[in-house]
Amino acid sequence: MTDHTDVVIVGAGPVGLFAIFELGLLNIKCHVIDNLDKPGGQCAELYPEKPIFDIPSRTSITGQELTDNLMRQVKPFHPVFHLNQQVEKVEKLNDSEWVISTNQGKIIQAKCIVIAAGAGSFVPRKPPLEGIENFDGKTVLYSVKDKSIFKNKTVLIAGGGDSALDWTNELSKIAKVNLIHRRKEFRAAPDSVSKMLELEKNDILSFFTGQLKGISAGSNKSLKVQYQDNENLHYIEVDYLLPFYGLKMELGPIVNWGLNLHENKIYVDTEKFETSVSSIFAIGDINTYPGKLKLILSGFHEAALMAQVCFKYCFPDKKNVFRYTTVSKDLHKKLGFK
Ligand code: FAD
Repeated sequence: MTDHTDVVIVGAGPVGLFAIFELGLLNIKCHVIDNLDKPGGQCAELYPEKPIFDIPSRTSITGQELTDNLMRQVKPFHPVFHLNQQVEKVEKLNDSEWVISTNQGKIIQAKCIVIAAGAGSFVPRKPPLEGIENFDGKTVLYSVKDKSIFKNKTVLIAGGGDSALDWTNELSKIAKVNLIHRRKEFRAAPDSVSKMLELEKNDILSFFTGQLKGISAGSNKSLKVQYQDNENLHYIEVDYLLPFYGLKMELGPIVNWGLNLHENKIYVDTEKFETSVSSIFAIGDINTYPGKLKLILSGFHEAALMAQVCFKYCFPDKKNVFRYTTVSKDLHKKLGFK
């Protein structure tokens, strides 16, 4: 089923979130797509606990607080979020509409597209194993969406960070879990590590040090995974392999959307923040222009100017009257301020 809206925002980082607000002030409705499982982009994924000192009027605010505040600020505009999915295709439907499709089969029709994709999609770091792509999404999974599929199964989890340790401990309740990490020291929270070691001591799970070396179809179970410790090569047969090696950012499908790119950034003008294709805009870290500064506050400014131009595409017959939020009764009503 196709959804219909005024604007699709690609990316729910701080700049994509603020764009919802600026567009909302002008009565423009948005759907927002992000391939992370939560909004906030780099702020929420890379530095949720770190203080940011250059958000105007905030002497200090953490990445997560900024995200939470932005989410509160956009609430009156009822944006529709589609998380855990990557925008793959952008196609022109007619002179005034686009069709946007995601890798999860979501299709949205919109008048404008705002690309707020930062440095690109956050995607999992994959172990460099030949042929792993044959198992990706089936028996090799990089995130857990439905843990019930692991019930009574044999699972190999690889990694030493929070995701690896949290899922090792959690899935041990329903599955036979093996954890592999290249050394005995972990980056995960000490609590999770102690819990895992306790479960290992009680033979509830197995932990071994080593590195993944190969993957093929198994004979008893679906996967045969080869790994190496200090001395020898070993094999283990499992139903699922869950590599948790963290995330990296890559531009992804944006390169195929026919936009004018410069060193993996989208070229825009500084009046409208429009790309080389009319009614497709790019704001925040993803764009480039002379003097560009990759700062959150620059992205906020870009969002405000972009919204003014979007209005013309969304409501070609209406006149946009500029209003301050302080004095406009109409805006107060929209924002729920009495
Ligand atoms: P991002 O935050 O990168 O969000 C983009 C989102 O788009 C991501 O969630 C991504 O998953 C999603 N996405 C991309 N492609 C697709 C696709 N095809 N489909 C679906 N989703 C997609 N800036 C400051 O101003 N002050 C600071 O003090 C500061 N400190 C920083 C500290 C660190 C450690 C880092 C890493 C950055 C810091 N920055 C700081 C930079 C700031 O975080 C970025 O400028 C800001 O996050 C850019 O916001 P954005 O919304 O443009 O992109």
